[in-house]
Amino acid sequence: MSGMYLATERRIAIEAVQTACTITTKVFQHLVSSESVTKKDKSPVTIGDYSAQAAVNYVLSRAFPQDGIVGEETADDLRTMEGVELRAKVTSLVNEALQKHEQVAGPLPDSEILDTIDLGTYSGGADKRFWALDPIDGTKGFLRGGQYAVCLALLVNGRVELGVMGCPNLPLDPKQPKPRDGEIRDRDVSGLGALFVCVRGQGSYVRPICGADAAETPIQMRDLQGSFKSAGFCESVEAGHSSLATNQRIARILGMDTERSVRMDSQAKYASIARGDGDVYLRLPVGDGSYQEKIWDHAAGTLLVEEAGGTVSDIAGRALDFRLGRTLKANRGVVACSKDMHPTLVEAVADALHEEGRASLLEAP
Ligand code: AMP
Ligand code: MG
Repeated sequence: MSGMYLATERRIAIEAVQTACTITTKVFQHLVSSESVTKKDKSPVTIGDYSAQAAVNYVLSRAFPQDGIVGEETADDLRTMEGVELRAKVTSLVNEALQKHEQVAGPLPDSEILDTIDLGTYSGGADKRFWALDPIDGTKGFLRGGQYAVCLALLVNGRVELGVMGCPNLPLDPKQPKPRDGEIRDRDVSGLGALFVCVRGQGSYVRPICGADAAETPIQMRDLQGSFKSAGFCESVEAGHSSLATNQRIARILGMDTERSVRMDSQAKYASIARGDGDVYLRLPVGDGSYQEKIWDHAAGTLLVEEAGGTVSDIAGRALDFRLGRTLKANRGVVACSKDMHPTLVEAVADALHEEGRASLLEAP
């Protein structure tokens, strides 16, 4: 692969995501208990989020010091008095991971780890090359022991050129059943963990989540052969993030088989349809449609789908515009499926929104 476009960036991005995934997996095993969910204790996910961002930023900033980083988190909370305990946990997790996986000699001081987290404050845009990072996408899934993803993308001139997505709880083999929420605590975890990678023009691939030289398998969207009859949704678990009722309406319009629908948190939805484990991903606005999607929630996933033979747009068929900063402010929602079926799907989305009296959402925000 060396000598190919973005070969070094691809290798380093995989390494960064793998290191972050070892941290998040450890945090889940040691800090998340079944009470974390019922007691609404968010601290494990906070610790995992900060630690994963620190590790990724550290690896990226060493390899590509000129690049910007748009990361979801800032270290503000860790710098406060109340953050002392969290900070200690983050520091120790990050140091352990960097020493083990990045050959970093001694422990980094707290201050350097906080500053490394804050390298993620870049504003984005189209001027310079930058990375977009969601250190734990799907925090609810993470806490439940369901699906979550460490998502990293490289943007050049405001266009996604490379994506890496680590999904520690997703079976490598799509035929293996996905663990039910919380089940990974008790079950044999062998076979779990898939890492997806794509570079523009080079296709999308899946590989085991560990290993520098792990074998890569190319992935493709499923061929629906011109009909949505056999198509299944991959949808959000959280009804507050995407209108699931509108999905039902669209399924009816297109004659889709809703028995095939699967729900999961995070950008693993993009990865799932990219490898044909589901066919349609819709993210339809709830409420007044004023929510602006964040670039780190979509950058890696959209390229994975495109490079696997799919098209991703917003609800009105507009291309997602990653040039405008940290959010997709010129777009509303997401519509993704195989390239040949995409125009029909966009039409069905418009029909459904008309039926619901919400057609105004199709206008540019
Ligand atoms: P999902 O896993 O599909 O439920 O999406 C998780 C992502 O939804 C999080 O990373 C949030 O950034 C994002 N999110 C938060 N609020 C909203 C909202 N009102 N509409 C759409 N997405 C949201
Ligand atoms: Mg997210």
